[in-house]
Amino acid sequence: MQQVMNDVEIRGAYKKFGTNVVLGGVDLDVKQGELLTLLGPSGCGKTTTLNLIAGFIDADQGELYIKGKRMNGVPPYKRDLGMVFQGYSLFPHMTVYENLEFGLKLHKVDKTESGSRIKNALEIVKMTGLEQRYPRELSGGQRQRVAIARALVVQPKLLLLDEPLSNLDAKLRQELRMEIKRLQKEVGVTTIFVTHDQEEALSMSDRIVIMDRGKVEQVGTPTEIYANPRSEFVFNFIGKSNSMHGSIVHIDANNITVQRENGEQMLVEAGNVMGADRLCSIGDQVKLYIRPEKVAIGPVSDADYDLHTVRITQMNYLGSSWEIFTSFQGDSLQVQCSDIDPAWTIGSEVKIGWKPSDVMLIKQ
Ligand code: ATP
Repeated sequence: MQQVMNDVEIRGAYKKFGTNVVLGGVDLDVKQGELLTLLGPSGCGKTTTLNLIAGFIDADQGELYIKGKRMNGVPPYKRDLGMVFQGYSLFPHMTVYENLEFGLKLHKVDKTESGSRIKNALEIVKMTGLEQRYPRELSGGQRQRVAIARALVVQPKLLLLDEPLSNLDAKLRQELRMEIKRLQKEVGVTTIFVTHDQEEALSMSDRIVIMDRGKVEQVGTPTEIYANPRSEFVFNFIGKSNSMHGSIVHIDANNITVQRENGEQMLVEAGNVMGADRLCSIGDQVKLYIRPEKVAIGPVSDADYDLHTVRITQMNYLGSSWEIFTSFQGDSLQVQCSDIDPAWTIGSEVKIGWKPSDVMLIKQ
């Protein structure tokens, strides 16, 4: 018998639409009570994975377990899931109260219990007092809150959210992100959230699953994914990055030295090799990656830093920080910093530096 360790387990899910392989062997564990986000570019298979869990599609191969029970072939209405999808899926001819009551009637919950659950769900999403409104009398954010309350009120085994914030403006999105995170922890319901927005994923999730072309690329906490990407795809997909080509000229116990085409040498901490083939040798062609916020600019005096000189090509003020574009011996290198020297201008030559531990390397 399957041992209950995770609320959801997917093993070897494979799905083809026509000749298009949409899931190419997905394995996934969702832990009890966590908010797990599926993140990846458009078409990578996020919604298909969610539809598989919801029961809207069946996998061609593979196993699905929810709370330890094998779910292959079980229809969606027998899975006890709460779902909120993109756009507003409220019944327009029903009030907020009736929208929430609908699922409870289907589940044959008695009137008293039903009333107290609706009251509680509306409190959680901060919609108390608006029970008699129709969806057309609510703002976009309020409608999405009601949709979440309607999903929660039936006390689902899992909450599935597919881009629930994508039709809302930026400010409301940010507000609702925090609310979903808060209410998810308050209710404790295991939640799977689909988005292609990295900021949303980083700010809301307990763990993130990065998907690419029907495969899971990496699973980890937001900080693990951001600071320790295991592949070039993950590094590029999450956050901003600078990349440079070169070849390995020296390896010692601490650092790998990479020489770029122009002869300049860069240091990479020995452990910072991404990708499947992590064994490096002298002569290997490699690509180096560094995040803009890991590049120090100006008078860098720290002895641990690998120092270089660049020329400023563009300076953008972003309010809380500056985005400086530089020419690094022919390569464009972006730097993010909180302050600038007022004397800097386009064309200024400035010092930059970074710790070898902040540079990642991948063999080409
Ligand atoms: P997005 O962020 O754009 O919603 P996604 O990662 O959720 O993308 P899916 O909706 O899972 O991606 O789709 C994955 C691939 O499967 C896409 O190429 C899509 O066109 C294809 N696809 C999805 N559903 C079907 C279907 N019912 N019939 C045929 N192809 C489909």
